[in-house]
Amino acid sequence: MEYGPHSLGGRSVIGDPRSQKMQSVMNLKIKYRESFRPFAPAVKADKVSDWFEIDRRSPYMLLVAPVKEDKRLAMTEEQQQKFIPPFVEDLEATSAIGITEPGAGSDHQGYYDSADIDFKTTAVRDGDHYILNGTKRYISNGCMAKLYFIVARTDPSLPLSEGGSVFVVPSDTPGFRNGFFHEKSSQRLATNGTFHLEDCRVPAENLLVGEGMLAELRSKYMPGSKSEAAATVLGVGRAAYEYAMNYAKNRTQGGKPLVELQSVALMLGTMARMLDSARLHIWHAAWLADQKDPNAAAKGLLAKVSASETAFECCRLASEILGGAAIMYEHPVEKYLRDATSFLHSDGTNQLCLLRAVKALSTKKTDGIYGF
Ligand SMILES: Cc1cc2nc3c(=O)[nH]c(=O)nc-3n(C[C@H](O)[C@H](O)[C@H](O)COP(=O)(O)OP(=O)(O)OC[C@H]3O[C@@H](n4cnc5c(N)ncnc54)[C@H](O)[C@@H]3O)c2cc1C
Repeated sequence: MEYGPHSLGGRSVIGDPRSQKMQSVMNLKIKYRESFRPFAPAVKADKVSDWFEIDRRSPYMLLVAPVKEDKRLAMTEEQQQKFIPPFVEDLEATSAIGITEPGAGSDHQGYYDSADIDFKTTAVRDGDHYILNGTKRYISNGCMAKLYFIVARTDPSLPLSEGGSVFVVPSDTPGFRNGFFHEKSSQRLATNGTFHLEDCRVPAENLLVGEGMLAELRSKYMPGSKSEAAATVLGVGRAAYEYAMNYAKNRTQGGKPLVELQSVALMLGTMARMLDSARLHIWHAAWLADQKDPNAAAKGLLAKVSASETAFECCRLASEILGGAAIMYEHPVEKYLRDATSFLHSDGTNQLCLLRAVKALSTKKTDGIYGF
């Protein structure tokens, strides 16, 4: 089924109950987002609310986070003036980043960095515009976002790292067409969608950083993005642990609360240990990113793997502790388990994260206590 711009199933997003439901889910996500920001410049006390206000609507707004003292802003002053105020003023607005395509999932991650990958979206210069053509899929907030950061090839003869560019594309740009929402088993209240670019005319001034700067943009402007993804998924693991702990304290079997049964206590202990390790891993990675340490990217990739595997295992163990209740809809653990599954693949599959980390480590630029 096809949907029009800014609509959900033909209905306007404004005032849509689904949109309100999403809002509360986003707030819940914040509640369960592990706090790594104390190690990031954005969190200087008076900046917290600004950052969350933006973040509530898309983690990817890291690209334009309104933290003036952080010199890593990808947008120029003019681009900030053009895109940020209308976005911030519209409380229904969300943003999205569009890279994944039917033929290029892991292949756009930069590990197999070759010109022959099946990445089809192109941007061809036409006077003071670029003409974008292609199809994107699996995009978080896709089909409902107001502002898209879209990766397209400006030079298809080069690997994506050198011939890939990023454009800021408002969804009402002529030639931008929403496709469909993917039905999925996890994170069901967050949308993932497909969209099309059909001779989509984007002003040249919407090019971010410069032509062929995808690799630089990823490494220089988004060094903390993997830590952020890791922090999000770890929150799911923590939620599962907290629910299981509470359940174990209140349900009695064998004449005592479950928490006093050693088999259950061992599982809770394992969850606490894993969560703590993953949390420290994330904090270290985020801190390295703040220090602009050359090993930050590799550490972030590893932290994402560690957090998503921890969350998945914590949800599995929580399921064991709940017994039959684990799959009943009146308890949230079955949902946590489904949600944890998605993070094994989003932000790059864990396999690709490990491969990229090893590639970075094998050419690492520094040794010492902040490296490995
Ligand atoms: C919840 C969710 C949200 C997402 N949000 C976005 C978004 O906002 N924007 C966006 O652009 N994309 C988004 N994606 C897409 C995501 O980035 C891709 O799903 C991911 O990169 C994997 O691509 P794929 O699904 O095509 O899997 P594939 O690339 O087909 O991978 C299939 C399997 O092959 C393995 N594999 C692939 N290549 C290699 C290799 N070279 N070496 C070894 N093993 C390999 C993988 O590890 C995996 O096990 C999202 C995905 C999910 C699930």
